[in-house]
Amino acid sequence: MNDSYGRTIDYMRISITDRCNLRCRYCMPYGISSVTPEDILTLEEIQAVAIAGASLGIRHIKVTGGEPLARKGCCQLIGMLKSVPGIENVTITTNGIFLSRFLDPLLEAGIDGINISLDTTDRKRYQEITGTDGLFQVLAGLEKAVFRKIPVKINAVSALWEADYGQRDWMAIARLAAKYPVDVRFIEMMPIGYGRHFKPLDHHEILAGLKKEYPGIREDETVHGFGPALYYQVPSFQGSIGFISAIHGKFCASCNRVRLTAQGFLKTCLCYEDGADLRSVLRGGQQERSGNCLENGHWNWNYKDCPEDKKLQEGLITAISQAIQLKPKNHCFERPEQMTERHNMIDIGG
Ligand code: SAM
Ligand code: SF4
Repeated sequence: MNDSYGRTIDYMRISITDRCNLRCRYCMPYGISSVTPEDILTLEEIQAVAIAGASLGIRHIKVTGGEPLARKGCCQLIGMLKSVPGIENVTITTNGIFLSRFLDPLLEAGIDGINISLDTTDRKRYQEITGTDGLFQVLAGLEKAVFRKIPVKINAVSALWEADYGQRDWMAIARLAAKYPVDVRFIEMMPIGYGRHFKPLDHHEILAGLKKEYPGIREDETVHGFGPALYYQVPSFQGSIGFISAIHGKFCASCNRVRLTAQGFLKTCLCYEDGADLRSVLRGGQQERSGNCLENGHWNWNYKDCPEDKKLQEGLITAISQAIQLKPKNHCFERPEQMTERHNMIDIGG
């Protein structure tokens, strides 16, 4: 559907957990607590939201978290989302630690693409950023995924790090697109949660470095997905280099997304608390729903045959469409004092 500014909203990022096996310093440092499992949407509830979203024009879903592969049933959920009529594309973003282990079930579930978050190719820095000596596990998962020919993107958050931390190896990360047929994207640090403590890096600096080292680099105008990245191609590279610059290259005018938190709140913009509490809609009607509406313990998405589910779907559709109508025009990251979102990225779902 279109929002009140005429933007087509066809992309939903769904966080399925607020837990993670890593402790990235800008996202979930040590000491952050998670909510209880009962507060998190069940797989069936998530599917019900996807069904309602699909009927409003959502076509692409990204499963995220926390670390989605740390939630039991993640691969099962991918299959459930793939089965929703209207959903064309289901992808996942993961820190990659468990990727080798879960690659086969992900592929069997029909995953359409895998984003791996990797901020450095240096083992020591990886440990400094994430709190875990896990670089080689991530690289093994990456190689395995590439070998299976599933589309892979690497996401690296860019920021001006504190002096004691050292500047990161931007070129080494970019060169992963030379070694593998993967797109490498630099994502500007946003002032959300602990991200506030880091200064965003203007991507022109990385681009200037790339141009110096690879004078043949050119803008790449081919379509790479459904997001706001601007891509460049180095002739000798197998993949492209992308830049997602929320602050220095604001792309709100073409924003196509909403986000579902693990607790079932539909957020319409990262910057503000605006949105809809879909968990209340889902659970408010639960007592009324009869067992007939479940097929083999799973949601019967053919809700037209089931009055209670039809009512529930109508409630979700109303809540989602009202929230989309009120989607803010712009973020205000450049004026953090105007932000109303106080949650950490791990609670929102990145
Ligand atoms: N654990 C998974 C992962 O790391 O890909 C999924 C969740 S994580 C929150 C999703 C993405 O958000 C990661 O690429 C992470 O680097 C990014 N991220 C976290 N905090 C951020 C911030 N303040 N600004 C920009 N990106 C951020
Ligand atoms: Fe975990 Fe991803 Fe946040 Fe790192 S960025 S702490 S891997 S959720």
